[in-house]
Amino acid sequence: MSVLAGIGMTSARTRARMIERLREKGIRDERVLAAIAAVPRHVFVEEALASRAYEDTALPLGFAQTISQPFIVARMIELLRAGRELGRTLEIGAGCGYQAAVLAQLAGEVHAIERIEPLLARARRNLEIIGETRVHLLHGDGQFGLPAAAPFDTIIVAAAAARVPPALLQQLACGGRMVLPVGTGDQYLSLIEHRAEGYVETRLDAVRFVPLLTGVE
Ligand code: SAH
Repeated sequence: MSVLAGIGMTSARTRARMIERLREKGIRDERVLAAIAAVPRHVFVEEALASRAYEDTALPLGFAQTISQPFIVARMIELLRAGRELGRTLEIGAGCGYQAAVLAQLAGEVHAIERIEPLLARARRNLEIIGETRVHLLHGDGQFGLPAAAPFDTIIVAAAAARVPPALLQQLACGGRMVLPVGTGDQYLSLIEHRAEGYVETRLDAVRFVPLLTGVE
């Protein structure tokens, strides 16, 4: 067997193990598991950490940011999907582009906003490397959403806000779902459904995310 084929097999095995671990932790949505299995996470982490890419942990990205833990990505997208298509999706906090790549497997259209320009450039390069062309990346402050492309069927936020940003509520289509971490000290995952009678919030797991910041860098 060639060295390259060997590396390919190792990666396939470690990826399969990661999916098994997500299953054990309670992820049930097979489409979400398949989407995670389809994205080579090692491309998105720093080279020195590539050997840890398929561990179920958050890893540093530089700029005091982290690539989300696969379980959290899976959990949030499972909640977002609720067994349906993601439709038009908005992601706030694209980071290195990993979660955007997973979303692209399941959504009709993905818009992803990041406030740190060098990170956005990295996300752009990473998505190019894996040949992912379905993600529209934007530099900006995601608290204000993306009025030009609204409304969205699904919105996912990768950084914790003190309160749910009102602009994001406004840009959530009727029948749409949003999943985001909320809180400054203790944080929890919040699921917001935009129903005909109004917005319904369900507070879920305790989580730990980097803060949603104001302005751009
Ligand atoms: N989705 C990434 C997670 C990145 S961590 C992944 O797949 O791993 C969260 C990201 O949110 C950071 O890159 C941070 O810069 C970004 N962020 C924080 N506040 C923001 C804001 N107001 N607008 C856009 N991005 C923001």
